[in-house]
Amino acid sequence: MTSQTQPSEKSMKRMRNYVEKYRQKSGTSAHPNREVTDAVVLGLAQNVDALGRPLCPCNYYPDKQAEVDASRRWFCACDEMKQYKYCHCLLFVTPEGKPITEYLPEDHEGRQIYGRVKDPTPDKGREARHRAESTERTV
Ligand code: SF4
Repeated sequence: MTSQTQPSEKSMKRMRNYVEKYRQKSGTSAHPNREVTDAVVLGLAQNVDALGRPLCPCNYYPDKQAEVDASRRWFCACDEMKQYKYCHCLLFVTPEGKPITEYLPEDHEGRQIYGRVKDPTPDKGREARHRAESTERTV
């Protein structure tokens, strides 16, 4: 089986539902180009089928199973999303289709690529913001 395998309908449905709910919870939007969402949901569903976990499909992992066993940090929604509200896959974005970058550390690649993109719904999401804040204090 390769990573190009068509995922099961069950996993596609699970991930579509998850994405819809998490957008509401985090106050984020879908990318205006629907193909962006479709591709990421497909990748997540493939990983659910292959690994049992919604491992982020936009990263390269030398060994996917080792990544799953080692940490939950790249299970969607990943640590970066929960801490900084930043989704580098563009699955959870502003209504204009930009990733939110305003909470990222200055030297993060997201800030370098997209500049400072403000969060249009600061009262929602960032359920692990305390972790980002404690990191900021110790650096
Ligand atoms: S970057 Fe994070 S929030 Fe975005 S699709 Fe990947 S795991 Fe999910």
